[in-house]
Amino acid sequence: MFKKILIANRGEIALRVIRSCKEMGIKTVAVYSEADKDSLHVWFADEAVCIGPPPAKESYLNMKRILAAAEITGADAIHPGYGFLSENAQFAELCERSGFKFIGPSPEHIRAMGDKMSAKKLAKKAGVPLVPGSDDVVKSIDEAKKIAKEIGYPILLKASAGGGGRGMRIVRSEQELPKAFEQAYKEAEAAFGKGDLYIEKFIEEPRHIEIQIVGDRYGTVLHLSERECSVQRRHQKLIEESPSPFMTPELRERMGEAAVRLAELIKYESLGTVEFLVDKDRNFYFIEMNTRIQVEHPVTEEVIFYDLVKEQIKIAAGVAISGKYYYPQRHAIEVRVNAEDPFNNFMPSPGTITALHLPGGHGVRIETHIYSGYKIPPHYDSMIAKVIASARTRKEAIAIMERALEEFYIEGIKTTIPLHKKILKDERFRKGNYNIKFLENFDLTPDEE
Ligand code: ADP
Repeated sequence: MFKKILIANRGEIALRVIRSCKEMGIKTVAVYSEADKDSLHVWFADEAVCIGPPPAKESYLNMKRILAAAEITGADAIHPGYGFLSENAQFAELCERSGFKFIGPSPEHIRAMGDKMSAKKLAKKAGVPLVPGSDDVVKSIDEAKKIAKEIGYPILLKASAGGGGRGMRIVRSEQELPKAFEQAYKEAEAAFGKGDLYIEKFIEEPRHIEIQIVGDRYGTVLHLSERECSVQRRHQKLIEESPSPFMTPELRERMGEAAVRLAELIKYESLGTVEFLVDKDRNFYFIEMNTRIQVEHPVTEEVIFYDLVKEQIKIAAGVAISGKYYYPQRHAIEVRVNAEDPFNNFMPSPGTITALHLPGGHGVRIETHIYSGYKIPPHYDSMIAKVIASARTRKEAIAIMERALEEFYIEGIKTTIPLHKKILKDERFRKGNYNIKFLENFDLTPDEE
C-alpha cells in the first residue's frame, strides 16, 4: 500500500481524499494556491506545499509544480480528485514517468474516454446503445445538414473534447444550423483548444442516469448501481439521488450490464462513471464515460455502504476488488451548495462567511471545506458544500434533507440553499417525476418567508 499520497486538488474533494487516507494509515500531502492558504485541506493534511498564485493555470493545473511538490515531500502516489488534472492523460503519464502512481485509470483509458467520439465508438463496439447521431466528427456545415436530415431535427451539436456542458447547441431546423455550428465550434475551440463537433439526436425530456463502475487489474468489473442526476441547470448537476425514482430492477440490470460491458471491453482499471440518457419509455443511450471520482459519489456510498475513495486507492495499489454488489437498500440525496444567488441568474457570490452552522444528526452527511470566517476565493468553482441525506426510503431522505437545510445557517454570502428548499417542496420532485427539463420551467423567485 502507498505510504504517502499527494492530493492534487482543493476544497471539499481534497478533504474527502485526506479523510480516507487517514483511515487507511496513509500520510497526506496537500498542495494549495496562495488563495487557499487558509483552506481546511491545508490544515488537515500531514504536509502542505504552496504551488503558486491563485489562477488555476499557475497552481492546480501546473503539472510541473505539482510533481515537484510530490518529489520534495517523498509522496509515492498522486490523487487528482475531480476537475483540474483528473482527466488529463498527459498528467497521468507524467506522474507514472516521474515514479508516482496516478490514482486513476491509465493514460490510454483517459484518452479513449476523454474524446467523446472515441468513447462512443468503443461503446458501440461493446454493444451499448448510443444516441442516434454522426459516426464521427462532422467536418462541414453541409455534412452536418445531411446527417441532421437523416436523423431528424431537433439535433444537438456537441464538442468532441467537451465537458461541463460547453460547446453544446440545440438546433431545431436546418435554417438555424450554420450559425449554431459556427458558435459551437468557436466555443469548443476556446474552451478545449479543439473545435471538433459531432451530432446527436436531441432527446426531448430524458433523464440523466449514470452507473458507477469499478474495475481492477485482474479483470473484475462491477457496477455499483445508479445515480439520478436530472436536476440540472445549464447541463450542470444540482441535486443527485440514488436509487433513481425512475429505476426498475430490470432496467438497472440492463444499464449495469451495458456499463460493465464497456469497461470490460477496454479492460478498465479504476473507478468510472458511465452516463446515459433515459427516455420516457426506459430506452437508454450512452452519452459519455467519466474516468474519475465524481462530485456526486457520496449518494452511491450511502446506499451501498462502500467507501469509493478507499476502493480507488486500493485498486491503484493493485489490490483486487473485494466488495460485493448490493442492490440499494437505502435512499440517498445530495444537494450541491454553491456560492451563487439562485434568484439572480446564479450570480457568483464569493466573499467571507461571517457566521456558519452546519447541520448534523441522524442521516446527514456534510462534505465541505468551509468554516466561519472562511473567505471564498473568486478563482475557482462555486461549490462550497454538499449535503447528503440518507434513510431507508426516499420520503424519509427528503424529510431529513429538508430538516438539514433548515439547520444550515450561513451568513455573508448567497447560496443555492433557498432554491434547494423550494425544489424539495415541489410536487413533481416529491413524486420523483422529473427530467432534465425540470429546472428550465421552474419558478426562480424566492419563496415568501
Ligand atoms: P458534458 O461532458 O459537457 O457534461 P454530456 O454529454 O455529459 O456533456 O451532457 C451533459 C448534459 O447535456 C446531459 O446530462 C443532458 O442534460 C444534456 N444532453 C447531452 N446529450 C443530449 C442529447 N442527445 N439530448 C438531450 N440532452 C442531452
